[in-house]
Amino acid sequence: MMLDRPVRSVEALAFRYPVATPVRTSFGIMHDRPAVFVRIEDADGAVGWGEVWCNFPTVGAEHRARLVNELLAPLVVGQTFATPRDAFDVMTAKTAVLALQSGEVGPLAQGIAGIDIALWDLAARRGAKPLWRLLGGDERRVPVYASGINPDAPERTVRTMRERGHRAFKLKIGFGAALDMRNLDAVRQEAGPGVFVAADANQAWSLDETLSVVERLAPFDLRWLEEPLHADRPWSEWRALREASPVPLAAGENIAGFAAFAEALQQDVLSVVQPDVAKWGGVSGCLAVGQDIVRSGATYCPHYLGGGIGLLASAHLLAAVGGPGMLEVDVNENPLRDALCGPVADVRDGAIVLHDGPGLGIDPDLAPLRRFKVDEQRVSRRAKSGWRRVLRGLGLKRLAKSAKARGVSVVPKRERYEPAKHYMRGPGPKARAAGTGADGGRTESGRD
Ligand SMILES: [Mg+2]
Repeated sequence: MMLDRPVRSVEALAFRYPVATPVRTSFGIMHDRPAVFVRIEDADGAVGWGEVWCNFPTVGAEHRARLVNELLAPLVVGQTFATPRDAFDVMTAKTAVLALQSGEVGPLAQGIAGIDIALWDLAARRGAKPLWRLLGGDERRVPVYASGINPDAPERTVRTMRERGHRAFKLKIGFGAALDMRNLDAVRQEAGPGVFVAADANQAWSLDETLSVVERLAPFDLRWLEEPLHADRPWSEWRALREASPVPLAAGENIAGFAAFAEALQQDVLSVVQPDVAKWGGVSGCLAVGQDIVRSGATYCPHYLGGGIGLLASAHLLAAVGGPGMLEVDVNENPLRDALCGPVADVRDGAIVLHDGPGLGIDPDLAPLRRFKVDEQRVSRRAKSGWRRVLRGLGLKRLAKSAKARGVSVVPKRERYEPAKHYMRGPGPKARAAGTGADGGRTESGRD
């Protein structure tokens, strides 16, 4: 592994694109598309890029960027890791107690995932290998499906996406039986018999509601029904559903943690398992889980709905893990995806072909996206006294010291407010003394 230099910097950048056509799911509407990208640089100036999941609620993107910049970056900067997985384990262990205490298991796992993806990109670049090859892949062609198809005249979207090279389609349902049945019929008609059509209910129903819906799904020949139940419903409910459903079940975007995925595979009720690389695990977690999924006989289909870097990372993962899975490609307008996903933007005959360039295979150009960048609102940047700097520069150390003692500063008071000084920041003294966090364990946010 080519991570033999210390990490010099970690920076998360938040973006927000206001969409003309909102993205509708059964649990809410996205009026803008946020994205949080992570840029990591090592001591030699080599760079890697990652992405942090931040879709819902969309106001949470800036918060996640701040978690990366102020809480996770200090755990990584200045450190040398033999592998990205080592960094993943250190970050997870050192934030384990904080994640429980804050109830922010998800946002922290998402920030860790973003840093992990960037470290894998960096490692592959340093090794001058495409990431999919570094991860053990031998096939660069990745089949894809068109996803995020809204319930408003979805047959039109299917038509447009077919013209753009798509051959497989996933419709959003969970908007009431009448509209769902109308849309499923229209999409099947438009796609034609035998063509891949799946449906995603986004956790819309109870078990009883789902049981009454699945009876009516048989004529649509669906490849899978995704998240009909709330993701944390007991496995007994998923099993009852599986026994009654004519359609295979899919889930996984809301499963987090090695133990939770192991349990999901052991239950053997999901035909398709869909971890999200930017939501939990990064490449380190999802590579291991993806391989477990394939070994278990289920299909690994990376979940993804976000910006371009995470989408590209998902494509590399699927190319590496293999199996009959397909890459989820959101079809709603989003320049934060299209400008940064490299070859994934070029869908031909239902597939994309990954490049042979090092790492993720792209050098992200954020300049055209500048107008969508959210201004950084860091609150804990250490204020530097201008006077002290000047005095030190003149070699007047004693004067500088006394200026410090008297608190002399030309920095306006407003900028000197540092809430992070007054609240817990990073691992506490016990965790630091132990070196690995309070209990050395991983954060597992699995269902139970
Ligand atoms: Mg889904």
